[in-house]
Amino acid sequence: MPRPILASISASALAHNLALAMKEAAPAKTWAVLKANAYGHGLLRAAKAFAAADGFALLDLVDALKLRSAGIDKPLLMLEGFFAPPDIPQFVKYRLTPAVHCFEQVEMLRDAAGAGQLGEGLDLYLKVNSGMNRLGFMTEGVAGAWTALKAIPGVRDITLMTHFADADGESGIDGQLQWFSALTHGLHAPKSYANSAALLRFPDKARADWVRPGIMLYGCSPFTFRTAAEIGLKPAMTLSTRVIAVQNLEPGERVGYGFTYQAAKEMRIGVIACGYADGYPRHAPSGTPVLVAGRRTQIVGRVSMDMICVDVTDIPDAGVGAPVVLWGEGLSADQVAVAADTVSYELLCALAPRVPVAEVP
Ligand SMILES: *Cc1c(COP(=O)(O)O)cnc(C)c1O
Repeated sequence: MPRPILASISASALAHNLALAMKEAAPAKTWAVLKANAYGHGLLRAAKAFAAADGFALLDLVDALKLRSAGIDKPLLMLEGFFAPPDIPQFVKYRLTPAVHCFEQVEMLRDAAGAGQLGEGLDLYLKVNSGMNRLGFMTEGVAGAWTALKAIPGVRDITLMTHFADADGESGIDGQLQWFSALTHGLHAPKSYANSAALLRFPDKARADWVRPGIMLYGCSPFTFRTAAEIGLKPAMTLSTRVIAVQNLEPGERVGYGFTYQAAKEMRIGVIACGYADGYPRHAPSGTPVLVAGRRTQIVGRVSMDMICVDVTDIPDAGVGAPVVLWGEGLSADQVAVAADTVSYELLCALAPRVPVAEVP
């Protein structure tokens, strides 16, 4: 029998979450964000489940070519654009839409046009830095980039985009939206702003022409103040395993590397087949929630490479072979993330290649 760990990916949950996002987005169109191997869910698997999306947003040329080879014909938005001049003919050939965020990229495009490489031409997204100070043109750079791009033969439709730093937080989106409209004043083009948090929290302000939800499609909440279930999302990835050993502890006995956990009373400890080499966060402390035989309990001691110890004192029927859910169905990855001082994004993306994946309806 193979080691009992498994990531089950639900195609119907993915499709359900996309439908919810698209309903919120309408009449705007929806880029389903597939970066980071579709947040750990598998690029092609997710693309198939997201057949209703208007387009896909991703980062890597290799991944875009995989989608094209799989017969996917939708628009593909490349969120970091092209990285070097040889990428550009590929963008043209495979009809990819680059985000153009710096003048170096404008130069590369101009050179490619000069060398006759733009062929049928390219649609592109012009990325505006509205205050996050990561990617994008700022102040007079926006109009400068617009004018320069418009003058390049082969540049077709331009969409103006920006990204929010704190759509889920106290600052919200108003400040960045004001900056954006000041920076793009007089430029007439479709617009795209919203990640999951902006779409769900400020739909009317953030919808624009295209939205770009990611995390919500995978069934997790972008918020700390509203759960995925409250939003109506379904978890798409369930990471499960089984108990492979049980230890009975006397008061004072300790558990795991560094002896970081000490039993205050008699305890039963289940040892489960999942560790940080499977993608479970090593920094998850004692107390992080876990489901054993359908009941909620907690991990104890340090997460090892291949195993974690869990408290089954009050789950007497949980012996060797008892089913365990690390996150997903019955326990949102969001709750594990809060306990482990991270975000569900990181948990989902970190799913290790050694974990077998099963596609479930
Ligand atoms: C990742 C990303 C998104 C999606 O963000 P979520 O918080 O996962 O919804 C949208 N836009 C850009 C530019 C991104 O990088």
